[in-house]
Amino acid sequence: MKFATKAIHAGVHPDPATGAIMTPIYQTSTYVQDGVGNHKGYEYSRTQNPTRHALEKNIAAIENGKFGACFGSGLAAIDCVLKMLNPGDEVISTNDLYGGSYRIFKTIFEKYGIIFHFVNMQDVDAVAALVNENTKMIWVETPTNPMMNIVDIEAMAKISKAAGAMLCVDNTFATPYLQNPLDLGADMVMHSVTKYLGGHSDVVMGALVCSDENIANEMYRIQNSSGAVTAPMDSFLVLRGIKTLHLRVQRHCENGEKVARFLATHPKIDKVYWPGIETHPNHEVAKRQMRGFGGMISFNLKGNQLEDALSIVKKVEIFALAESLGGVESLIGHPATMTHASIPKDVREQSGVVDSLIRLSVGVEDADDLIADLSQALA
Ligand SMILES: *Cc1c(COP(=O)(O)O)cnc(C)c1O
Repeated sequence: MKFATKAIHAGVHPDPATGAIMTPIYQTSTYVQDGVGNHKGYEYSRTQNPTRHALEKNIAAIENGKFGACFGSGLAAIDCVLKMLNPGDEVISTNDLYGGSYRIFKTIFEKYGIIFHFVNMQDVDAVAALVNENTKMIWVETPTNPMMNIVDIEAMAKISKAAGAMLCVDNTFATPYLQNPLDLGADMVMHSVTKYLGGHSDVVMGALVCSDENIANEMYRIQNSSGAVTAPMDSFLVLRGIKTLHLRVQRHCENGEKVARFLATHPKIDKVYWPGIETHPNHEVAKRQMRGFGGMISFNLKGNQLEDALSIVKKVEIFALAESLGGVESLIGHPATMTHASIPKDVREQSGVVDSLIRLSVGVEDADDLIADLSQALA
């Protein structure tokens, strides 16, 4: 089955009780049993809930995986994966990781004896050089936030397979419509469902997808044992969101391209970071592993003045100044003072997060209106 058909139909069936075409919101904590141990597959909603179950099957299908699990946030999904590790195990990850992932690695799991290495993952040899007999996980994020760097997933899979380590890919920015890490050799895919999968800025949720039965058993054991599950109402909203994922992401890509090309020719702009632009340093890798380049764009200004960047994010009228991304509406952010404010200035500047860097989550509005808005704000 092709993507659009799976997005709409995978995991969902007309309700057996009424024929309702939409999966009902099974807002229930427990399920009546006919006799002890004689039930319909559902005993308690932390362990299993029919609305969540439909969503988990749907997300697994659109990621070309066999098993899906949904959590109360993207970070709760990351928490589940990390709990598969043991004290002394080592993780190799990228040095421009999502801030929340960095925080859970360093401030939660490091104190349980897990060791994290951060490296520039565009440099495949530098990753290979960090592997030793304790390496149990390689954690990839691609494209990265906010610099839109691209990591070669197949190259990472080669290293993880040789090391006997698990390769996990945070696929939040690309979405399953543009990139399927399991097909490229990853063992686990993670999503902040909050972003493009939900797509309407109304839910916080995370998901994991894998195809290996042993990994899946661990995933479900930890999901049930730690209990960071998502709610039936939220599962319903995301099932609805995913039905238009392909349509939305197509438009995000079209608008992303138009806005990126507008910015690239603007006299006040220094650099534009969007993997679809031919001059992007990882454009060839992006073309190989992605089917489109999405609507996330960063750019910085000539002269690199903080005040100029702050003035632009204030002057825009259609773009909303907010954290998060991936919704139908366009957002604008200033990483140095918002998402990356906790990182020391010299450290963030090394990775490109300079004072005048601005990040856009280009929505699905009319591209002409978005360009006119940026144009007046830049004037
Ligand atoms: C938002 C985000 C997360 C965390 O997800 P939450 O749903 O906010 O917990 C993880 N990775 C990336 C790339 C994100 O953008």
